[in-house]
Amino acid sequence: MNDRLADAAGLAPPPAPLLTVKNLVKQFPIKGGLLSRTVDKVHAVDGVSFDLAPGETLGVVGESGCGKSTTGRCILRLIEPTSGEVTFEGRSVTHANKDELRALARDMQIIFQDPYASLNPRMTVGATVGEALTIHKLTKTPREYEDRIVHLLETVGLNADQMRRYPHEFSGGQRQRIGIARALAVSPKLVVCDEAVSALDVSIQAQVINLLEDLREQFQLTYIFIAHDLSVVEHISHRVAVMYLGRIVEIAPAKKLYTDPKHPYTEALLSAVPIPDPSVKRKRIPLQGDVPSPIRPPPGCHFHTRCPIAKKGLCDVERPELKKTSEGHWVSCHLRG
Ligand code: SF4
Repeated sequence: MNDRLADAAGLAPPPAPLLTVKNLVKQFPIKGGLLSRTVDKVHAVDGVSFDLAPGETLGVVGESGCGKSTTGRCILRLIEPTSGEVTFEGRSVTHANKDELRALARDMQIIFQDPYASLNPRMTVGATVGEALTIHKLTKTPREYEDRIVHLLETVGLNADQMRRYPHEFSGGQRQRIGIARALAVSPKLVVCDEAVSALDVSIQAQVINLLEDLREQFQLTYIFIAHDLSVVEHISHRVAVMYLGRIVEIAPAKKLYTDPKHPYTEALLSAVPIPDPSVKRKRIPLQGDVPSPIRPPPGCHFHTRCPIAKKGLCDVERPELKKTSEGHWVSCHLRG
């Protein structure tokens, strides 16, 4: 049976992953003493693994300091991972040399949280968006270069007149649109949205999320959408991964995660998400204390110091592995799943 017939019969194999992350680890050394020796380590990312299908949006959530942004940056090699393997379309990202990384940078882009800090205040918007076109030699004539910038600005809801202006002349939402146009300039396949809407007002957040969804369809993009708030990722994500102290503790199709969470940490995060329908009541599960220090994360299950159902002698000793509880739903908990 050829591929098309197999597809029509519903027998087609799932598409090969666009991105594969295997056992990613990032430790930041802490230097101290007269000789500036490594005296300790921050365990920022502690064995993260997942696959990403083409066209998929994976939401990654967790409280600040849980390693989600570091994970995103290690995937792009903006930060060097300590160990683990990242593969993009079968090409190793982790072992890529300088030239290979430059080629990969065309396929994998990032949109940062603070659009103002990530834009050069002395560069016009046109020059900012066009910079990557020049670096990657993507246009042949000045006319083509300018046309491409105008098209990119219009694609994100800005206009041609704005290309000669500077970042300070724009609102926060517009600046994030400039950041998106800059990421799109190289026609990437994967975009890491690193808290891309967290700094914006709620109404502007919705506009930017809608824009990102439209762009995903228009350009067949794949997203890793990082946020600290489950309500932000709910509508844009096909799947959601919940991180706690450097580890994924639950990963599931978005609908399953929101309607049938398994991990006590996910339950607590979800219980804090407001429900628009006042007739629906949800029991609030308060999280005790703060996230422990990633310099010395608690042994066993990292969450045991805050978990309302932790079992002494088990949760504080043994690390729970991610286990499959149903199709696509994986949970890291000794007592659930
Ligand atoms: Fe709680 Fe234990 Fe499950 Fe960790 S393994 S989430 S401490 S019950």
